[in-house]
Amino acid sequence: MVEKVRTVTDVCCPFCGTLCDDLEIDIDLKTDQVVEVRNGCQIGTKKFYASNPSEHRFEKPLIKKNGELTEVSWEEAIDKAADILVKAQRPLLYGFSSTECEAQSRGVELAELLNAILDNTASVCHGPSLLAIQDVGASLATLGEIKNRADTVIFWGSNPVHAHPRHLSRYSDFIRGYFRTDGRNDRYIIVVDPRYTHTAQIADKYIKVKPNEDYELIQSIRAVLRGTDLDVKEVAGVPIEDIKELVERLKSANFGVLFFGMGLTQSLAHHRNIETAIRLVTELNDYNKFILIPMRGHYNVAGANQVFAWNTGYAYSIDFSRGYPRYNPGEFSSVQLLMRDEVDASLVVASDPGSNFPAGAVKNLFKHPLIAIEPHKTPTSAFADVVLPAAIAGIECEGTAYRMDKVPLRLRKVKEAPGESLSDKEILERIIEKVKGKLGE
Ligand code: SF4
Repeated sequence: MVEKVRTVTDVCCPFCGTLCDDLEIDIDLKTDQVVEVRNGCQIGTKKFYASNPSEHRFEKPLIKKNGELTEVSWEEAIDKAADILVKAQRPLLYGFSSTECEAQSRGVELAELLNAILDNTASVCHGPSLLAIQDVGASLATLGEIKNRADTVIFWGSNPVHAHPRHLSRYSDFIRGYFRTDGRNDRYIIVVDPRYTHTAQIADKYIKVKPNEDYELIQSIRAVLRGTDLDVKEVAGVPIEDIKELVERLKSANFGVLFFGMGLTQSLAHHRNIETAIRLVTELNDYNKFILIPMRGHYNVAGANQVFAWNTGYAYSIDFSRGYPRYNPGEFSSVQLLMRDEVDASLVVASDPGSNFPAGAVKNLFKHPLIAIEPHKTPTSAFADVVLPAAIAGIECEGTAYRMDKVPLRLRKVKEAPGESLSDKEILERIIEKVKGKLGE
């Protein structure tokens, strides 16, 4: 029988921070297109199919001429991109969470060369978690340990059924582990959320917290844990009897884990929510083993934080304008800089701020020269002056990515990129060479 497909096994899924590493991808031998994805969830699978050539993919470099994106050579496009960056007074390099670590490190090099602002998507998601961990440390563990040991699992302000679909079946809920041989029956799942999410619907206990009152609820749990008799009927919409019952449940756990998402990092107290959650977890360690893990969204946002931190000392929102890295989230975060219109050119790598930044920030982003390193048509690339077509990391080129628990995994190449696309790393290296030439270095 003549083989029509080749199969690539043990493939990491480059979509969410769960970074599942057991996918099997069938590639048509004739067309080099993805024809089958096994083991992936719906959103991960879709990313592999979306890598096939289509009207939505860029295959050649483009420059805006007379208001229209026009195909040009790589040489012309790189020259134009370098020109924009060198002429800018305060350029912003943003994104990096959906690409691999080697490309991220080239981003750091370019930012330093340009005295630019360097930021990744953590500044609009788990930045508060990083701030809190810097303040008070954190008890962490790998997802493997959770799979094997955890008997009490809290999802606070996160909805993995939708955002990390295989998290539950691989690590935190249904999976059988070494000490949790009966899988789901061996675990008690608690969901804390203002909404009755699909994750809440499969939990053993749902706690409905009032929006923006997470801080009050965590503090009251800490108080009850210390033996304080709270003289109130409820806190943050949760009856005091429920809080007492929850505390008893947490104290009697064998190995507990608190997974938290943007419902906690982006509600009113931001990093103070995380700081007090970390302190709660620390205090629970007087009774048992308890840890916490941020539910990272983009598959390699944890890697962006690692790479930026080991190169500059800081994980996101970094300003090189004085020739050395400075760090001040808020002052040097992309959204705030754009809202204040302090950026006069931007390079966006593997990200789409045009579809998720506030309108005022997007307006100012599009007002100034914009370069997009991007495989697909997006709202950001539609307004770009230069579009540099990228191979999709983890599908069309190799690299390293960090899972949400900071375990690095190797991404595989399963097929060729369409057209003239290059990897993010190679594109950034070409820009660096050109910028060096223009700066006379
Ligand atoms: S859970 Fe996340 S990493 Fe796993 S297959 Fe789905 S999208 Fe990919």
